[in-house]
Amino acid sequence: MTVTLDWLGCATFRLTVDDMVIYLDAYMDRVPSAPPVGLSADEVDRADFVLVGHSHFDHIAGAEVIAANTGARVIGSNETARIMLDEGIAPEQLLRAQGGEHFRLSDTVTVRVYPSLHSCIWSTAASNTGEIAAGDYGLTEDERWPPNRPLVNFGGVDSEESRLAMEHVESCTGSHETGGALAYVIETPEGSIFYHDTSGCWTRVVGDLHPDVAIVAMAGRPNIDGEPIQGSLAQFVGRMAGLLKPQTLFLGHHDAWMPPRTRDMTTEEALTPVREEVSRVAPGVSLANVGYLESTRLLA
Ligand SMILES: [Zn+2]
Repeated sequence: MTVTLDWLGCATFRLTVDDMVIYLDAYMDRVPSAPPVGLSADEVDRADFVLVGHSHFDHIAGAEVIAANTGARVIGSNETARIMLDEGIAPEQLLRAQGGEHFRLSDTVTVRVYPSLHSCIWSTAASNTGEIAAGDYGLTEDERWPPNRPLVNFGGVDSEESRLAMEHVESCTGSHETGGALAYVIETPEGSIFYHDTSGCWTRVVGDLHPDVAIVAMAGRPNIDGEPIQGSLAQFVGRMAGLLKPQTLFLGHHDAWMPPRTRDMTTEEALTPVREEVSRVAPGVSLANVGYLESTRLLA
């Protein structure tokens, strides 16, 4: 069995298992200021499944194009299914999940779905890899989302980047709601692969999964068991490495997918605190750092 993984920017990946092609998220068509990933959703001519982690545009956009062009089935939340139906995707291509499902993808490969958590987008605390963020703890939803809270600002109120980014967001397929974040474990005869696309987790869920490979999102203020991390993004990745204990850990969502609002955290310099945390918490875990479309053979 040959299993390969390609990163396509943000939290989007392509997982190929022999002749089966699985997209993990589908957001490849980004703002012009973001570095190109080398593939557009409408160039995808072969896909069997798209697993959508949650329904925000920077994850789901492109799934409707891939599903329409290739006939791929889309697995995701009810919100993801609603958006796909709105985009004209046939109901029989949609597999709805909320965590607890076990779908067959081929004769030998299945995927299990688990409930997950979205990062704390309501918190404005720092999100660079090494910066410790504190506070915002124990708040209720009305305290997290006060009335007249300003909309997320993509790069400065009156800047040209901000205008282009807002135009892009409005033109993208997606929802203002997460739809409920999901995590996936793809199970093959050679081993299993964990995937989520936003920095959050239920620790007692992920602690029981024991995948061979893990793809962990590194962006924003991480959410651990429903509260914002009192610590850094690097510590979140270290925590995930310690809970999942994969042989190899890949990162997602850590590139400059919407500059200038998003920082490039793919450099070895930016990853230094992450490597330190991973080797401190889970010394056996190898942290991979791959570029776009740099195929990596998994489970070999
Ligand atoms: Zn999101």
